[in-house]
Amino acid sequence: MHVHFTYAGGTIGMIDSPGGLHPGADLETWLTDLLDAFPASLTPIGTATVTTLQPLIDSTQAAPSTWQAIVDDIRAHARADAFVVLHGTDTMAYTAAALSYALTGLSQPVVITGSQLPLSAAGSDAPANVVGAVQAVLGGATSGVQLFFGGRLLAGNRATKTSTWSFQGFDSPSTAPLACAGAPWRWSGPAESEADTGWRSPRPFRRHDVVVVDVVPGLTDTRLAALLEPPPVAAVLRAYGVGNLPTELTTVIADAVKTGVTVVVTSQCLQGTVEFGRYAVGNPVAAAGAVSGGDMTLEAAYAKLQFLASQGLRGAELGAWMGRNLAGELTEPSTPLHRDR
Ligand code: ASP
Repeated sequence: MHVHFTYAGGTIGMIDSPGGLHPGADLETWLTDLLDAFPASLTPIGTATVTTLQPLIDSTQAAPSTWQAIVDDIRAHARADAFVVLHGTDTMAYTAAALSYALTGLSQPVVITGSQLPLSAAGSDAPANVVGAVQAVLGGATSGVQLFFGGRLLAGNRATKTSTWSFQGFDSPSTAPLACAGAPWRWSGPAESEADTGWRSPRPFRRHDVVVVDVVPGLTDTRLAALLEPPPVAAVLRAYGVGNLPTELTTVIADAVKTGVTVVVTSQCLQGTVEFGRYAVGNPVAAAGAVSGGDMTLEAAYAKLQFLASQGLRGAELGAWMGRNLAGELTEPSTPLHRDR
């Protein structure tokens, strides 16, 4: 078994300084020692290889180019049997979602993890998370991108960071964990079918202008219009409940759609599915041309927009693809859509 590690940065490999935590620990030596001591009762790792991306970053600094660097590294080690990505927690869920779209053709599992405390801190969660990620790929994780943290294996594009301090810092509010670590591990059924809606040879991620707006009581149409000027490629409007937006915003949304902006509505609720027709205040939004984000997390929706825009999609076509399940990120019967990929 060959496990390839891609180390991108994050608290796991940070050291303290007068200016605060920053990357600087000798993670590769630590990882080698950890894997050498890997429980003999488990399938041993035959080979472990590590790529340390340069520069190592606090994941706050991540951008679509960071996602692409990880994708490129995984593709460059395509002969490995499994992949573990070590990453900061702040944007881990965005990266996990992004990787899930870019790697739908990959047959090996990818598990992303990190930690709340640096590897050298007393009582750090780093060893448990890395060992857990390795156990996940050795013990049954199938293809697709998953996130292991605090004893649970979550679907990567369903995960969201829910705590800055708890060792169980992530959750997947709309889907059950894929597995819970224990003695023995408990695995749930296979993840939802990914159909074959993914992109087999995707173009690399590029950075596209996608704006995210949290709707709050009192947001004016003037402010929303200003946020959409100059027009971005896409806008994610984080609405209330099942996708409800103040009717005052309808004209601005309709105008943005007319200029070619893809407007996607998601819910601010952690467990939320957008259903435009449920309340009278939802209908005008759909009529204005906004599309539903279904039950996608913000992270999944945002990374999907960046991914699809990188494939060259714009406007209504981009909106139509937002409603299709690419990699298990969306609960919706996917309509097969044929297209040259
Ligand atoms: N700021 C850190 C990062 O995301 C937080 C962490 O890793 O826990 O890189």
